[in-house]
Amino acid sequence: MAAAPPPPPSAAATTAGPPPPGRLLAWYDAHRRDLPWRRDRDPYRVWVSEVMLQQTRVETVLPYYARFLARFPDVGALAAAPLDDLLALWSGLGYYRRARQMHAAARRVVDEHAGRFPATVDGLRGLPGIGAYTAAAIASICFGVAVPVMDGNVERLTARLLAEPGDPKAGAPRRRLVAAAAALVDAARPGDSNQALMELGATVCTPRAPRCLLCPLRAAGRGPGLAGEPAYAGCRAAGEGAAESYPPPRKRRDPERQHRLFAVVERKVDRRSRLLLFRRPEDSRLMAGLWELPWIELPSAEVDPAFAEPALAERYGARWTLGPRLGAIRHGITFRNLEIVLHRATVHTTGHLTDSPQEAAWIPRQDLPTLPLSSMVPKALKAIP
Ligand code: SF4
Repeated sequence: MAAAPPPPPSAAATTAGPPPPGRLLAWYDAHRRDLPWRRDRDPYRVWVSEVMLQQTRVETVLPYYARFLARFPDVGALAAAPLDDLLALWSGLGYYRRARQMHAAARRVVDEHAGRFPATVDGLRGLPGIGAYTAAAIASICFGVAVPVMDGNVERLTARLLAEPGDPKAGAPRRRLVAAAAALVDAARPGDSNQALMELGATVCTPRAPRCLLCPLRAAGRGPGLAGEPAYAGCRAAGEGAAESYPPPRKRRDPERQHRLFAVVERKVDRRSRLLLFRRPEDSRLMAGLWELPWIELPSAEVDPAFAEPALAERYGARWTLGPRLGAIRHGITFRNLEIVLHRATVHTTGHLTDSPQEAAWIPRQDLPTLPLSSMVPKALKAIP
């Protein structure tokens, strides 16, 4: 009797190649960018890079990362350093709360863990400033723990793989995306799997114009699917020809326009020209502890001395006289677009502004780079002719 003909090949069977984690790692091995924090698995170095990379682009982080490690080569050096040294080095990276929490975490690692980072997700999450994302990244990259990492790139990529229509940050949609990311983690190389997924999201599955033809996860194939199917079904959003429709757009808060006046006050002390700066209180929600030029909020773009001088006095103490306009800058900060007018000003006090609610100091211009400084200070001084 003739043998029965073989069954028609399924889509899964016709696509050769390893299952998705294997495909992903093969792509990563061939295409990974050579970034300094990928050269070893030291938890301190990985931690520093992961914290710096939050909300900040790779190109921006690279020089900061090099300077940081030159100044604080290990967790002991960071813990022993004054917080101001760390803030000065962080100046310009923004989100200064990260730097303060790093300092606190370094001290905790030294004081409570004998200078060694905990090797578990829960242990890492016990440190200041280390949340779910950073803990999973360090645990998987440095200690081989097979947990998925969810950053913005992975969220977008997994939402497209599943054609997930829900909010990627909430409830059941979030759980589905985490499960899909977990299915892409190779138990033998969890750190590389997570970095591969983040890299693929950053370089191929980009927010606009994803390059699906280059994507190792596009086609169906052998191996378990990401949502529990017996075979991998391929990227559903790409299959629909609608990659950019996922995840659904979030409602954005419209940026608020705000007018400010910066007062540039200079005087000669000990024969050196010094600039008057104030330090933001330690409990400020933004830029806590950074030095800044004296400023006030204005009701409009117009600067009226009758409004500005008493407003400066109320905020900083002493009596103020506004001088000529020096220039203007724009600055975006969280959800605010600041339009800032710079004016020379005189403050009528003989010494320190002792009645100011904020710490004040007359700083020689050449010492500014050594201070933890709001990035608006160098930007403003550059705009003055
Ligand atoms: Fe993203 Fe396209 Fe790859 Fe799907 S196929 S994961 S949409 S790059």
